[in-house]
Amino acid sequence: MKILALTGGIGSGKSTVAEIFRILGIPVFDADSAAKELYETNPALRKGLIALFGRGIYDENNKLNTKLLASTAFNDPVRLAQLNKLVHPPVIEYFCEWKQKHGNYPLLVHETALLYEAGLDKLSDYVAVVTAAENLRIERVCRNKGWSPEQVRERIRRQLSQDLLKSKADFIIDNNGQLALLPQVIELIKKVQN
Ligand code: ATP
Repeated sequence: MKILALTGGIGSGKSTVAEIFRILGIPVFDADSAAKELYETNPALRKGLIALFGRGIYDENNKLNTKLLASTAFNDPVRLAQLNKLVHPPVIEYFCEWKQKHGNYPLLVHETALLYEAGLDKLSDYVAVVTAAENLRIERVCRNKGWSPEQVRERIRRQLSQDLLKSKADFIIDNNGQLALLPQVIELIKKVQN
């Protein structure tokens, strides 16, 4: 079985490409959704989050206040590092369990924005990066999430650069709009399964 890590900066189109893999019958582990689930189900993570951000980080129904988390953690590099240190190990553990459950598939995809930051590259056989021009990424995120262009630029500045991701990747998926995504994904699958 091969593990393909699928990464890319904000608005590059990771989730869009991940959906194509799913449609083609390849299971995808979404690290972001896994983290969101674990924030609510993993007792040690909950405890760590409360210790770091206070009780108010969970509402009266025990749901994570994601807006508060984002506004507190993403504007403070020290807290963000502490948050990442808390969340990455359970996500990795969850991924390993998920991988076991999908042991009969020849290829699994691990979608994550924080591949190198979380050390997930070490769990992957291949890395594919989804890329798009910065102006397109900004436009897409503003439309999708209702953010301002400056908010998107700020997030881009805090992430690893697209050039660095490209230089480390085994495959580059071009999501600038001129090249269709489906044939690029099919080509990639052929290469990794060879
Ligand atoms: P994030 O890091 O925020 O999760 P992402 O890399 O997963 O972003 P997507 O959610 O796949 O990116 O794409 C961002 C937005 O851009 C979505 O609204 C998506 O529908 C849109 N989008 C992605 N690719 C294209 C495309 N080729 N043409 C038009 N819109 C696109």
